[in-house]
Amino acid sequence: MTTPLSHFIAGTSRPSSGGDTLPDLNPSDTRDVVAEVPVGTPADAAAAVAAAAEALPAWRGLSGPARAEFLYRWAAAIDARAEEMAQALAREVGKPIGEARGEVGRCIVILRYYAGDAVRAIGEVVPAGVAGALQFTLREPLGVVALITPWNFPVAIPLWKAAPALAFGNTVVLKPSEQSPMMALMLAETAQAAGLPPGVFNVLLGTGPAVGEALLRADEVRGISFTGSASVGAKVAAIAAARNVRYQTEMGGKNVVIVMPDADLDLAAKLTAAGAMRYAGQKCTATSRAIVASEVEGAFLDRIRDQVKGFSLGPVTDPAAAIGPVISAASRDRIWSTLAAAEGEVVCGGSETTGVVFKNGFFVTPTVVRGVDPDAPLAQDEIFGPVLAVLGADGLDESIALANRSRYGLSASLFTRDIGAALRYIHRIDVGLVRVNGDTTGVDPHAPFGGMKGSSSGSREQGSAAREFYTETKTVQVNPV
Ligand code: NAD
Repeated sequence: MTTPLSHFIAGTSRPSSGGDTLPDLNPSDTRDVVAEVPVGTPADAAAAVAAAAEALPAWRGLSGPARAEFLYRWAAAIDARAEEMAQALAREVGKPIGEARGEVGRCIVILRYYAGDAVRAIGEVVPAGVAGALQFTLREPLGVVALITPWNFPVAIPLWKAAPALAFGNTVVLKPSEQSPMMALMLAETAQAAGLPPGVFNVLLGTGPAVGEALLRADEVRGISFTGSASVGAKVAAIAAARNVRYQTEMGGKNVVIVMPDADLDLAAKLTAAGAMRYAGQKCTATSRAIVASEVEGAFLDRIRDQVKGFSLGPVTDPAAAIGPVISAASRDRIWSTLAAAEGEVVCGGSETTGVVFKNGFFVTPTVVRGVDPDAPLAQDEIFGPVLAVLGADGLDESIALANRSRYGLSASLFTRDIGAALRYIHRIDVGLVRVNGDTTGVDPHAPFGGMKGSSSGSREQGSAAREFYTETKTVQVNPV
């Protein structure tokens, strides 16, 4: 057996204090074991938190411009290894290479953006009740922050949390998904190459029950940012609330497009198919439902069929593959069993992949089902696979009501040429990411991002929202003597 991966704690590799491991498999071809990942122990979590706590006074004591320099150097270190990281990312989580390159490029943009934020003005001067006094707000770091992240964006999500946390003077313990440990360690290697002081950015490997909960419960942890499933998010929120620690939980979605009779159907079909199928539907913002006006349903579905036919399914080593595998056997089996139980008419896909190229990976044929009952699991549950459920509705009001009939509220798009309809929808749709004539996926790294209802604890990430989250406000008044 290969040597298990080590944590990255206090600037060095540190083996787990426990011996249990899990295999980290290449989802395109499971004969390729990427690594053995330690399950981890509470003692490992304690060591990572202690390292971050020790590094905190010196890091928060640096000037903003000095911290910015470290982030710029980190961006450069990633840039220097960008292609290597993209290849590793494709191998570890099955992301098609073009999109893997895009994600690594995104990391560079994120680091540069937050390096800029470390030198921007924060705080405000507030008129004081005492004549001649000076009253102002000061934003202080929270302290040690715990970041718990999913496998689907294994470098961008850790960095869109870590970069603002570090820019504002916090130190970090990142617990990545046990399904993407290699990519987290590549982040640690590039942080080290950039000269980040030991203990400022730590990577704690392992599973949620073995190390994640111990991390959340550590006394020194003063902020928690989680992205992942709704069920785990609920546990994270309960622990954080009981400890009275600031937290945010960013979770799943059941993202929706509404196609009106006056829509540009070519555009709507192109963006809907891409949003539903690319990366095998495994983005939190993936399009999972289409609510289509009956007048145009036939024409829309013809276009969707053509679009989906144009995507080739295959191992991510094949540069032509637009859709790779799903992450695991459990995920593949869950998707097929949901489809098997679904009622409705299969528009395309629907049967298991055949062919030698698919034999050793977790592949799911892109599938579109129409006539889906709005309350059926296919229309309500997050499938996290290349599956689109098509529902019918009459008129804008019924379409919006159906779109909102979900416990999630992450992302939506309306296709129309009617500005009045668009404005009504913008105000009434219950999601955090509202698009008109756009895709449900993707977000600018400088724009606030997050969901409503069951998709989020209500806070936002990225842009100005990250500053709010990773700092605490002091109101200071200095009186004359
Ligand atoms: P997951 O919830 O299974 O795991 C997420 C992280 O939580 C992992 O690091 C895991 O080890 C950890 N974890 C599990 N149990 C834990 C516990 N008891 N205590 C502490 N940590 C624990 O999610 P996943 O399968 O890795 O990711 C897919 C999910 O993430 C989907 O639901 C997707 O929609 C969501 N997601 C949301 C966003 C967003 O921004 N809203 C972005 C990407 C992914």
